[in-house]
Amino acid sequence: NGVANVLSSNGHHTNGISTASSSASTERIQIIDDEKKFTPELSGQIDRWGLQDAGFGYNIVAVFGSQSTGKSTLLNRLFGTTFDVMDESRRQQTTKGIWMCRGKGMNVMVMDVEGTDGRERGEDQDFERKSALFSLASSEVLIVNLWEHQVGLYQGANMGLLKTVFEVNLGLFGKKADDGTNGGRTLLLFVIRDHIGTTPLANLQGTLTTDLNRIWESLSKPAELQDRKLSDYFDLAFTALPHKILAADKFEAEVQNLRKRFVDKEDPGYLFKPAYHKRIPADGVAFYMEGIWEQVQTNKDLDLPTQQELLAQFRCDEISAIALAEFNEQAKSQKRPVESGRVVEGLGAMMRNWRKDTLTRYDRDASRYHKGVYARKRADLLATIDSTLSPLFLGQLKNLHKTCLVTFKKEIQDGLRGNDYNFADVVAEARAKCESTFTEGAKEAWIDETDWVWEDELDALMEEVESVGDQCRKDETKKMINQIERNFKKAIAEPVELALSKAAPNMWDEVLKTFKELLDKAEATYLTKAKSFNCTEAENISSLVVLRQRSWQALRAKIDEQTADPVILGKLRGHFEERFRYDEQGVPRVWKPDDDIDGTFKKAKDQTLELVPLYSKIAPLDPTLEFTLPSESEDPLSNEEFDFSSSLIIFTETKAIDLTNKFRKEADAYYVEAKRSTVSSIAQ
Ligand code: GDP
Ligand code: MG
Repeated sequence: NGVANVLSSNGHHTNGISTASSSASTERIQIIDDEKKFTPELSGQIDRWGLQDAGFGYNIVAVFGSQSTGKSTLLNRLFGTTFDVMDESRRQQTTKGIWMCRGKGMNVMVMDVEGTDGRERGEDQDFERKSALFSLASSEVLIVNLWEHQVGLYQGANMGLLKTVFEVNLGLFGKKADDGTNGGRTLLLFVIRDHIGTTPLANLQGTLTTDLNRIWESLSKPAELQDRKLSDYFDLAFTALPHKILAADKFEAEVQNLRKRFVDKEDPGYLFKPAYHKRIPADGVAFYMEGIWEQVQTNKDLDLPTQQELLAQFRCDEISAIALAEFNEQAKSQKRPVESGRVVEGLGAMMRNWRKDTLTRYDRDASRYHKGVYARKRADLLATIDSTLSPLFLGQLKNLHKTCLVTFKKEIQDGLRGNDYNFADVVAEARAKCESTFTEGAKEAWIDETDWVWEDELDALMEEVESVGDQCRKDETKKMINQIERNFKKAIAEPVELALSKAAPNMWDEVLKTFKELLDKAEATYLTKAKSFNCTEAENISSLVVLRQRSWQALRAKIDEQTADPVILGKLRGHFEERFRYDEQGVPRVWKPDDDIDGTFKKAKDQTLELVPLYSKIAPLDPTLEFTLPSESEDPLSNEEFDFSSSLIIFTETKAIDLTNKFRKEADAYYVEAKRSTVSSIAQ
């Protein structure tokens, strides 16, 4: 049956967990049953004994010896345990197996081995050997119990069994002494029972030591352990007890002396020396022992350190998983806020705390296990923690990036409100603030000892900031050029109107002179303002090209306005009238029949028609006033095509003929009118 037999001190059988907590500390448990199965209940039992959290603060002792040599009796006396003792009256066999009980009032786990005497029944030798080996490998002190009269009798003292046990032990766990760590040694405590006293203990001790060394010599040892001595693995101690019944008082007294050597650390004969401790934390003992039993059972060629490593892997994984569960709960709390795009205040501090607490939880329980495994599992744990935290860190960076950029844009927008600002200063200030805010936030979220980086994200952010700044500068430049253009248009209007109304031969000289003056002024205005924008040389060059082009187009627009059909026809008409309808003094003519109407008409008409070519083309008399622009250029700000050389032509030839014809008709009308006026004056 797989269910552990648990007997409480009052002798009642219980299965599983006892309800009486007062008796729990003296419960015993069959750790290996007669089917050679290791109990799954040991870990729970150790907990119920109250030893789970004892760390290294406990000891393990076991007993070895022939059937019915008073082993259980001795253990019960020494440790206050409750092992079955053979009933004198019935001589009944107790249940086969290995039992364990906690020492009363002491952190000692005591193992008692029950079995038949293997010499009689061959099949049981296997169990005896295995349980002896198990006791030897797992306990700090192995009590070898024997009658005085067995001393020196090879078979009688179970020495044959001991030889086999030593041999297998050496094969299985022999290498454990190599690394020199604790747990490599075991104390063999020989307790000689029914010591009459005629042969002094010293003599018995000598005989036993000689026997043991002889056994050791005769062992078949693994090649690499050929020169190992018994004393490399075992310490030997000897004691004798008087006859329990014949010398009951003396027996009691000696048992008490021996008990003191197990209990009193100050006692010079103290038996639980630290060197014997197997360095297995109490909460790992069950798993550890099961592993040893497994090895003993299957005779696997594994040694003790490997077993310790297996144990450590199992326990460190468990401890790590528990520590991680709490951590995951904590980390989850900030997952959503970060994913929703929020910059979580103090995220770094939180993450560092979770990380630290998790490691502390792990270290507290796991550091007692095999150092290498503990460290390896700790690195695994740390990697798991960091892989959970890393997305939070990266998310925080991304969110920081976004919010910093938004703030940067807003600050520029606010800074450029009104007229009294220095563009370059506004951008530089917002830029510096953006960089420092991001850097501060990123450093807060960063965790020491990780390979995390935030500098790349900062670079990306600053690149974006740069391009936003550039775009702003371009927009501002555009705005400024438009403003200058508007002012230019206002300024050019009147002088052009004036110059074009006079129709003097140097009319274009006037226009171009004014144009050049105003353009110089506009360019100067641009250059002054551009300085505060930190515009590049290339940007300045292209801006000036635009400015010139726009100014020229403004001039051309004004000229077009002043040379539109009705306007130019009005100008021609005015010019003609001045010469035909008014005399040299500006007095309106009253035509008389003798007047040379034809001659005056022709002269006035010819003089007026001379104006058409003058208006047709922008052509100054003074060649230094000629203005040029690269022909066929494009406005880089508006992408409009522009052809300079054709812009010099005001009227094409066809247009000029058309105007001339229109004017002729008007002039002819004046002529007819003049003629009629003389006819009518004659008629009067
Ligand atoms: P175990 O089989 O080795 O565990 O032996 P037990 O403890 O069950 O004892 C077997 C029998 O030996 C019992 O009847 C005990 O009363 C008796 N006994 C116990 N201790 C001694 C002792 O020191 N001397 C003698 N002569 N008998 C003892
Ligand atoms: Mg017994």
